[in-house]
Order: sequence, then C-alpha cells, then structure tokens
Amino acid sequence: MGSVGRFAPSPTGDLHYGSLIAAVGSWLDAKSSPGGHWLLRIDDLDTARVRADSEASILATLNAFGFEWPQPLWRQSTRLERYHEALGHLKRRIPLFHCQCSRRQLAAEGEACCVGNCRTLQCDPRESALRADLSGLDPLVTHDRSLGEARFDPAVHSDVIVRRRDGVFAYQFAVVIDDADQSVTDVVRGADLLESTPWQLGLLQALGLRVPRYLHLPLVVEADGQKLAKSRHAVKVGDTDVVQRLREVLRDLQQTEVPAEIREPQELLEIAATQWQPERFKGVREIRLPPNP
Ligand code: GLU
Repeated sequence: MGSVGRFAPSPTGDLHYGSLIAAVGSWLDAKSSPGGHWLLRIDDLDTARVRADSEASILATLNAFGFEWPQPLWRQSTRLERYHEALGHLKRRIPLFHCQCSRRQLAAEGEACCVGNCRTLQCDPRESALRADLSGLDPLVTHDRSLGEARFDPAVHSDVIVRRRDGVFAYQFAVVIDDADQSVTDVVRGADLLESTPWQLGLLQALGLRVPRYLHLPLVVEADGQKLAKSRHAVKVGDTDVVQRLREVLRDLQQTEVPAEIREPQELLEIAATQWQPERFKGVREIRLPPNP
C-alpha cells in the first residue's frame, strides 16, 4: 500500500502562504508514492478561534489550486465521542492529573509541563487542565526526514495537556488519535510544529499507537526572520495566478521546475509529484522572503 499523507488546516482564517506550502508538500509527498493517498482534515476543535467562514474559504482556495480529497471530509468537531473513548483508554494506561498552573506561571518558568505540585493537590477538575503523566514512559527517538532526530524524553516532556481548562481536547491529543484512525503513514507539515512532535511521540507511545514518519517543511518567514506579516499571509485566489503561486512554492522547496507550457494547477501538481525530492531541502528550517519592496 502507498503512503497516506494529510493536510490538517485550522479554520481560523484564510489559507496563507505557509499553509499552502504544507498543502503542496504533503500532497506531493503522498502522491509521489505509488498508490499514495492524501487526506484533508479540518482541525476545528478550538471553537474560540474558529471563524465561521474560514472552512469554506480554505476549501475554495484548495479547489482553485487543483487539490481534490476523499469525501466525507473529517472534522475534529464531529469526533468528540472518539476522543472521550481514547481518553478512557489513556487513563487505563498512564496516570492523568488535573493541573491548575496558569499560562502566566508556565511562561514565567519557561515551561510547558506542570510547574507546581498539582499531581498531588487534587485540583478542582472544573478549573483545571487535564494532563497525562508521561514520566514512566521510555525515551523514544524517531528520524525526521528533513530535520534529523525527533526525540521524546520523559525526563523533559514529563506531562502534556490532553484536555484544556476550557474543556476543549488539546491539539496534541486529538492529532495523534486522528492520524492513527486515518492510517496516516507520513506527517508532512511546517517546521513550526516540530516542537509539538515530542509530545505527540509520548502520547503515541502511551496509547500504544504506531509512530508515523515525520517530514517538517521549511517555514516561511520575513527577511528579518520574523513571523510572516499579515499582509503577505493570505493566498487570495482571484488576485493571483494560481499556477504562478504553485511555481513559487516549488521554487521555495527547491524542487525541479515544471515546464513553462503547463498552465493547469492539477497537471502541474501531478508532474511535480513525479519529480518530488524532499532531500533537496534537507536540514532547511526556514525560507526567508525577500525584503518588502
Ligand atoms: N491544525 C494544525 C495547524 O493548522 C496542523 C496540524 C498538523 O499538521 O499536525 O497548525
């Protein structure tokens, strides 16, 4: 069976150039393998950040760029029962505890793990995040196809939030269940998610799930290394030539050019998949855009 890749945007705004790179990179990687599948999943758990019109806008943009995906589309918001069930499973395998550390406390300590003694405090569940205690797990090392070692060390990543204080299942938790349930073999996404990978490795181990391969794509940043400016973020279809934009993505990912006479996005993607060479950007963490004119 070919590889199974996925693109999992959060519907919190229009598709931006960084997400387009993730969509194209994950598509090319999946389709370059014989019989490969590419899935689209909507990561819409964070209801406070979800924008009502965003999913439709993202789907329209992806369509215009020549992407097709199997139906029905997966939406995390329809999978809450499954996450509850998985939480029950996790609870039987490792300790969970309620944690009341505030964002401010965690930021002050520069920590993502619990900084107090919440493990022993029996914090009020209604006012606490739920964390999984990963400290009893074995260290785990996997090889990112571009950026080298991704390491889960329980001494460093001792606990991870699985359900937030507001009751929303945490991204780290939902993503590993979804990827496993969708039989994803290759997680291809932006390098900004590299730091999430150890938590996901820990949860995969705790749940007894298979670890997928990872390929973190270079992240697009401004010329000075700062996050991409809002004005340059959105990929608005209509005011840009989609084929030209896809050619820019291929150039940024250091891929072989597609012949100039190709004018259809889908055809361009198909040719690019036959030429996909992720080793060309091996070790590259970011792509700096030229300075704003
Ligand atoms: N939904 C996440 C985001 O938009 C990506 C999830 C993933 O690729 O693991 O940043």
